[in-house]
Amino acid sequence: DLLRGDLTIDPDQNPDHLCTVRGWVRTKREGKEIAFLEVNDGSSLQGLQIVLSPTLDDYEALIKQINTGVSIAATGKLVASTGKGQKVEMQAREITVFGTADPETYPLQKKRHSIEFLRTIAHLRPRTNMFGAVFRVRNACAFAVHQFFQERGFLWVHTPIITASDCEGAGEMFGVTTLDLQKLGLAGKPVDYSQDFFGKPAFLTVSGQLEAEIMATAFSNVYTFGPTFRAENSNTSRHLAEFWMIEPEVAFCDLEGDADLAEDFLKYIFNYVLKTCPEDMEFFQERVNDQVMVNARKIIDEQFERISYTEAIAILEKCDKKFEFPVSWGLDLQSEHERFLAEEYFRKPVIVMDYPLGIKAFYMRVNDDTASDRQTVRAMDILAPGVGEIIGGSQREERLDLLEARIRSVGLNPEDYWWYLDLRRYGTVPHAGFGLGFERLVQFITGMGNIRDVIPFPRFPQSAEF
Ligand code: ATP
Ligand code: MG
Ligand code: MG
Ligand code: MG
Repeated sequence: DLLRGDLTIDPDQNPDHLCTVRGWVRTKREGKEIAFLEVNDGSSLQGLQIVLSPTLDDYEALIKQINTGVSIAATGKLVASTGKGQKVEMQAREITVFGTADPETYPLQKKRHSIEFLRTIAHLRPRTNMFGAVFRVRNACAFAVHQFFQERGFLWVHTPIITASDCEGAGEMFGVTTLDLQKLGLAGKPVDYSQDFFGKPAFLTVSGQLEAEIMATAFSNVYTFGPTFRAENSNTSRHLAEFWMIEPEVAFCDLEGDADLAEDFLKYIFNYVLKTCPEDMEFFQERVNDQVMVNARKIIDEQFERISYTEAIAILEKCDKKFEFPVSWGLDLQSEHERFLAEEYFRKPVIVMDYPLGIKAFYMRVNDDTASDRQTVRAMDILAPGVGEIIGGSQREERLDLLEARIRSVGLNPEDYWWYLDLRRYGTVPHAGFGLGFERLVQFITGMGNIRDVIPFPRFPQSAEF
């Protein structure tokens, strides 16, 4: 707050009020008599201007030592600033240097660096304005996720990271192995990864949904928020091998109720971020995408569009746009189709409902009233401008016989799902939920083009070593 200038201490009234700031020097400007530093501690975009004058001990040596990247503590008086760009500045009385940074080698110099270059130094990019803003907004989103659900009485449940089931059936799982390197005589040597999880197959979770259903059929309203893994051997701007997913699961709820919850949720998060991170959002507007604020207001103020999959196909078939991938009833929508609907056709988020049974997972509730050659399930995807699919959800099949038949028809063994079927065998209820990729949400809010730039340590096929 000091940096924003909402100073409750009036500098003129408190001539001896000393403050200390600790942080990293962003810039140094040397004048004839005095020098100016901008020090940033990560709490906001703007750093604090520190004025150094020759009355300081060892002034000459100090100025020489302090460069961009140096970590310091500065103690002094806060005074109203006469310079442009800040309301207050500090007149330093004492400076402590914790760590120097050689200007010849420190990669983050004063100039603007490309986002591609910054991706190669993921360990230093949090010190830039761009990534400062991204990770503060990411934090605000995470807090708002919990606040939204907790205010509505949802229980945060922790589903396992290590699991035996491929919830999505997409075969994008990483395996878990048991390695006793000492015993194998492999300590320090290359390893054979053919071992498994104590004699049983196990994988890193691709979704906590099935387990969340267990909790929802006891606590009614639950949500998960945790790391998720998919062996996506592709290089898109929207997929990571490790990402965070938010998965609410609601008992006594149908697909319409599920869509209402998702829409309320997105509006809530946008509202929260606009309120708590106005400067960071302005930064994205100026530096990343000049539609960021317009989009945010639209998300909050306007109702999302709701259409059926069949209507979506009709729109895509009728439009003049040339697509790379075919459009035809029964085929899944590709990212280019999703983005066309959200960005060009409706110009707002679109909730697409009732997808063909053939392209969706086994647990989705079958619509009874559809013709047998055009059978649909109670699935929804929410398509967002700039991102494409941001949410995938469905009403779950709660009827034991139909679920068992679906499990068989996709080639799975109902015996492996005995516990999942038990939820239908004993006290079954209509229920629904959705999965939202947390990084896609942060992309959506900030306007950042690449998902690798909204997570501190992105994991993808060629990701960095740490
Ligand atoms: P896509 O079609 O984009 O590959 P999906 O349909 O495979 O997504 P779901 O299984 O529906 O994804 O997962 C729910 C949500 O999780 C998605 O809507 C998306 O927001 C997010 N998500 C899925 N895969 C990834 C990934 N590899 N990286 C980041 N987020 C992801
Ligand atoms: Mg996918
Ligand atoms: Mg999809
Ligand atoms: Mg999906």
